[in-house]
Amino acid sequence: RKVMLVSAPADRALLGERNRGEEHSRLRERLTLAIRDGHFSLHYQPKADVRTGRISGVEALLRWQDPILGNVSPSVFIPFAEEHGLIIDIGRYVLHAACAQVQRWRNDGLGEYPVAVNLSACQFLDPELVSYVRTTLETTGLPPELLEFELTESASMANAEQSISVMRSLKELGISISIDDFGTGFSNLSYLKRFPVDKLKIDRSFVIEMTQSSESLSIVQAVIAMAHRLKLKVVAEGVETQKQFSFLALNYCDEVQGYFFSRPLPPGDFEIFVRESSVLKSDQNLDLAQAI
Ligand code: C2E
Ligand code: MG
Ligand code: MG
Ligand code: MG
Repeated sequence: RKVMLVSAPADRALLGERNRGEEHSRLRERLTLAIRDGHFSLHYQPKADVRTGRISGVEALLRWQDPILGNVSPSVFIPFAEEHGLIIDIGRYVLHAACAQVQRWRNDGLGEYPVAVNLSACQFLDPELVSYVRTTLETTGLPPELLEFELTESASMANAEQSISVMRSLKELGISISIDDFGTGFSNLSYLKRFPVDKLKIDRSFVIEMTQSSESLSIVQAVIAMAHRLKLKVVAEGVETQKQFSFLALNYCDEVQGYFFSRPLPPGDFEIFVRESSVLKSDQNLDLAQAI
């Protein structure tokens, strides 16, 4: 069963309409139960400030551990949830859980960590988004400056005029906005001057190629230069190696996120990571400085 649900598109095609329909309704049912019975959790992936080597924030990433299906990857169930009208409820869970967790860390004295939450296009175009966000900030007590939304280029382009007005309302609340997977979407650069965004996240594919091809390195350098001229911060995602980190640091990238710094962590492991990195802070800075 588990295999069927995560099978490749080619295998799915062989299942035939009837089985595929059954598979879909089972997945849908499990996802609905997951919301109700709490089979979702969030992992937090730390981002590092390139200059100081310190944790500059976290990205909240949804995890689904189903008692029957096992762990299902977000790249499988998020698109499914989007297609089947379940993403709004799931997204509300994510927003509330992330804000509550970061506020708990503040109250416990762990520190102030801005949290980035991913938004799908349909969540972003939900007319109740802004009021739900406002209520969530009020009920959790999280200052809006500690919340950031990540949107892909295609999500923000889905309905440009409406997106601009939603972004403005979110910015008025004090929330910041990043463009996720930058460079992979349908690139209409004019939106960069029209949309009130704060940050670009360079897609992992460029980071991977950057150390191998001078063309890809040129693209990364040009994106960073352009972003800075537009007064946007740049985050590189999927940074896995020292070499990638050094290239990014040399080219004035502001923040890095990836396995080189840390994997996405359950809350308890993030707390350990923070405590260890504050003990090791001076050493770690040295490592980062040496990398450059
Ligand atoms: P994303 O927003 O681009 O998130 C980054 C993905 O890259 C995460 O995958 C993360 O675990 C992975 N990653 C981070 N560092 C590295 C690295 O060094 N190497 C490699 N190979 N991968 C790295 P994940 O958690 O599987 O999430 C996949 C996608 O699912 C996310 O991509 C995002 O688009 C979506 N997603 C996850 N959680 C949510 C959510 O709460 N809501 C929505 N709407 N989408 C979500
Ligand atoms: Mg993201
Ligand atoms: Mg991304
Ligand atoms: Mg990505």
